[in-house]
Amino acid sequence: MAAVEHIASRLVKYVARYASGLEIDESDLRRITGSTMYPVIREAIYVVAKNIVTERNGLPRCNICGRGPYTRRGLYLHLVRVHRYDIERMIIEEYKRIERIIEESLSAENGR
Ligand SMILES: [Zn+2]
Repeated sequence: MAAVEHIASRLVKYVARYASGLEIDESDLRRITGSTMYPVIREAIYVVAKNIVTERNGLPRCNICGRGPYTRRGLYLHLVRVHRYDIERMIIEEYKRIERIIEESLSAENGR
């Protein structure tokens, strides 16, 4: 069983930080995911972070509810306070989507 559900709540702050343009402590993240899950989790975080922010007139806004504009710190706080569970769900969905693509390409290779 995929363990992403068990760690998704701890990944929210990384998505929110990335989305807000704040730095991420990669080694802390790797400690949470373990080295096996890390590359896929990293990609899932990147994709979700890109999807939940938008920019208008050079200022970041929340792309989930449309509120803003925010400062980096303000956007981060908005995302973790208001959209914690949305982000958790998106990480799990994106992780599974990437995992499916990897599995499909592996089975296509083996089927040759
Ligand atoms: Zn929002």
